[in-house]
Formats: sequence, structure tokens, C-alpha cells
Amino acid sequence: MSERIVVVGASLAGLRGAEAIRLAGHAGPLTLVGDEPHAPYDRPSLSKHVIAGEFGAGATTLPNLVALDAEWRLGQAAVGLDAVKREIVLSGGEQLEYDRLLITTGARARSWHEPLEAALTGVFTLRGRDDAEALRGALARKPERVLIIGGGFIGCEAASVCRDLGLAVTMVDPGPAPLARILGISVSGFLRERMERAGVEIRPNAKVRSLTGEAGRVTGAILEDGAEVSAEIILVALGAIPNTDWLDGSGLAREKGALVCDSHCRVRDESGFIHAEIRAAGDVAAFPHPLYDDGLTRLEHWGNAVAQGAYAGRALVKGDDGPAFSELPTFWSNQFGLTIKLAGLTKGADSLAFVQGSLKDGRFIAAYGHEGRTIAALSFDCARWLPAYAAAIEARAPFPPITGAVDQLTRLGPIDPAWPVAQG
Ligand SMILES: Cc1cc2nc3c(=O)[nH]c(=O)nc-3n(C[C@H](O)[C@H](O)[C@H](O)COP(=O)(O)OP(=O)(O)OC[C@H]3O[C@@H](n4cnc5c(N)ncnc54)[C@H](O)[C@@H]3O)c2cc1C
Repeated sequence: MSERIVVVGASLAGLRGAEAIRLAGHAGPLTLVGDEPHAPYDRPSLSKHVIAGEFGAGATTLPNLVALDAEWRLGQAAVGLDAVKREIVLSGGEQLEYDRLLITTGARARSWHEPLEAALTGVFTLRGRDDAEALRGALARKPERVLIIGGGFIGCEAASVCRDLGLAVTMVDPGPAPLARILGISVSGFLRERMERAGVEIRPNAKVRSLTGEAGRVTGAILEDGAEVSAEIILVALGAIPNTDWLDGSGLAREKGALVCDSHCRVRDESGFIHAEIRAAGDVAAFPHPLYDDGLTRLEHWGNAVAQGAYAGRALVKGDDGPAFSELPTFWSNQFGLTIKLAGLTKGADSLAFVQGSLKDGRFIAAYGHEGRTIAALSFDCARWLPAYAAAIEARAPFPPITGAVDQLTRLGPIDPAWPVAQG
């Protein structure tokens, strides 16, 4: 068969997808289209080692695990899709035909909403290696203060690097504590204390109203309560938006901007028709996860991009005889001397138990439950037993899972995860 397969989005999910396409036996033409000029590279070290200056962004290039023998179209964006003609339009106007298509266009950092303020020198977002190189250069010039807008994982990791570099940091966080929306206040309060001990000035329950500048350079920000924060560098860390604008007019269905897929990564169009010849994977895809029944799940997790890219690439070639995609979501982060690992998803948890270690020890595993079932486990510097909890989540084990284990308090006494009140 010499069908043409095209992969749009040449990063982690795209590369692992392309490798799976070859491993599944596709010997015909294979093209990877990527709007960045770089070969696929790894993003997690950007907010850790690269901005710290420990190594350059060039060292993040991903290894090819399989000889691809592919045509690479780097530095060229896909700007349109005709799913009936099976044709992609590239930024230069060229039309690229496909028989099967894998969409792995990921997500981009949400920019500051006011374009003139976002364009001030000294205002950064962090998604790609060029962003990381630019931020590294700015941090190396020893700014007097860095302001981080947003208390998610990337904001926290960047704050950690800034403190390691000896820089003054303020974090403006719309929630009561960093990561509260993902971990609940019962756990994120611990992280907040750790960050404050490390010297981060946190402004909780606060929002930035506007950025200030002088002669084209950022000078700080004004908060919604009128308070002013001076800063030479501002990192806007307000989450990511799926890259699906290029699919406007294609008729493919989207939910909250993400491409709607079924449990085999096949994309659905707005009429409900499932396209078996178009699959999507990674940060761009929303899909039904069998462990989390309430609607579609979109993950911004390295492990998901790898597993789903490989699954979708294989299914594109082999068809849908295999089981649905059901990889357990996992995530890690390094910050403030901590290794944080999460297995499963905490969304909707109604109870929490510290099942190994404790907050007092500064190392623990916390399990999250929903209606008596274990749905997630979080480790702070305590990953050794995490695989056992991951297995319990996959087995839909009752909550709390695993009682009587080593290093476990006798009273597990589930508590309230304490979710922050939704922000407007
Ligand atoms: C700074 C940072 C740190 C992270 N740290 C961690 C971590 O510690 N742990 C963890 O689990 N996860 C982490 N992640 C998340 C993880 O890196 C992502 O989940 C992963 O990169 C997703 O891969 P992807 O291939 O789906 O999407 P992406 O990596 O976003 O790749 C999509 C690619 O498609 C390109 N593209 C977009 N639109 C088009 C178009 N129209 N035409 C052609 N190409 C296009 C994009 O430019 C990009 O190259 C981090 C992410 C970032 C940004």
C-alpha cells in the first residue's frame, strides 16, 4: 500500500505517532508538517534547566526511536483542511494531499489579553524553545524583580528557577494557593508555605488588571485592588490554548478549542460523523477516558502525548480492532527541591487521605477519592510507592486504597481536598 500519511504538528506526539506509523508497517510516503523551524524537542526541561541556564535549548532535541524515512516540512504551518478532498493547505499556499492524517498540533501559551501591553519588552510567555532562550537571557541579566502571573505548574517551576538564581519573585495567583485548582487547598497550602519559605512573594486571590511600561519596556503591573508591583520581567503563565484555529471551516468538531475524538482517537465532525482516516493525539485532543466518565478529557501531560501519539499512529495504520485508548494520566514537576508526581486526575474528588508519609514530614502520598472510588494519587518526594497507587486507580479500587502499608499513619481519616471557589 503506498497511501500517503501526513502528520501535522512535529513535536512529541507527532514524532511518537510517526514512529508508530512506521512500526505498524506503513511503508509508503510519510510527511511531517511543523510550524516551528526546529526538529521535535522536549518541552519539560524548558521551564526547569533551560531557563536556569543549565543547558541550552538545542540540547532538548528528542531522539528518533525509529528510522522514519519521512519528508519533513519544518517552518511551514498548516492553515486549512478540506476533509472531503483530503487536502491540507500550507502557509505558502501549497496543497498537500493525504489518505490518512494525524493531527498533533498541541497547544500554545495563553498570551496577555491586551496586545499593546503584551508587546512590551520584558513580557514573556513560555511554551517553545525560543521562548525559553529569550527568558533565560533576560533572567541572566539579573532583573531586580520578576513578576509571574498565574500559579500553575509552569509559573511555579519558573518561580523556583528564579529563586535558585537569587532573583526577587512575586507571583500573582488568582487562587488561594499555587496549584489549588489541581491539588486542592489542603495540599497546595503546603506548597505555598514551601514557596514562601524559599522567598517567593505570593499575592493569593489576586488578579493583574494591567501591565505598565515606559519607553516600550515593562515596568510592572497594577492589580485589580489597585496595588502596584514593580518588575523588569513579567512571565504570563496563564495556561495553554489548543492549536486548532487552522481547522476553522474544516467542519471538525471542537470542545473548548480542543479537537473532539472518540475512544480510538478518531476525530468527529460537527455532524457527528467519525473520520477513521483522521486521528488526533496529545495536547490538542479531547477524548473520553474510560476511568473518568464525566465528558471529554484533554491532557497537557508529556506521558499522554507519548502514549496517545503512539496509539493513534498505530490505529491509523492498523484500524480499530484493539482496545480503546486508556492510558492512566500521569504528570510530574520539579520545583523548590521537590519532585511532584501525579497519577490519575483529581477533578471531582470529594475526599483526600494522606496514605504515606505526612505534610509534617514534608514527603507524602495523598490519594484522592470520588464517591468511594480512588481516582488519583499525588506524591511529594515520595514516589517509591506511587506505582501501587496507580494500579489501584486503574483497578477502580475503593477509597482509601491500600491500608496497613509501611509508612502509613494508622488513622487515614479522609479529609476535604478543599477546592477553591471557581474564579470568575
Ligand atoms: C514549559 C513546559 C514544561 C512542561 N513540563 C512538563 C512536565 O514537567 N511534566 C509533564 O508531564 N508535562 C510537561 N509539559 C507538557 C508537555 O510538554 C506537553 O504535554 C507535550 O509537549 C505535548 O506534546 P504535543 O506534541 O501534543 O504538543 P506540542 O508539544 O505543543 O507540539 C505541537 C506542535 O505542533 C506545532 N503546530 C501547531 N499548530 C500548527 C500548525 N497549524 N501547523 C503545523 N504545526 C503546528 C506546534 O508549534 C508544536 O511544534 C510541559 C510543557 C511546557 C510548555
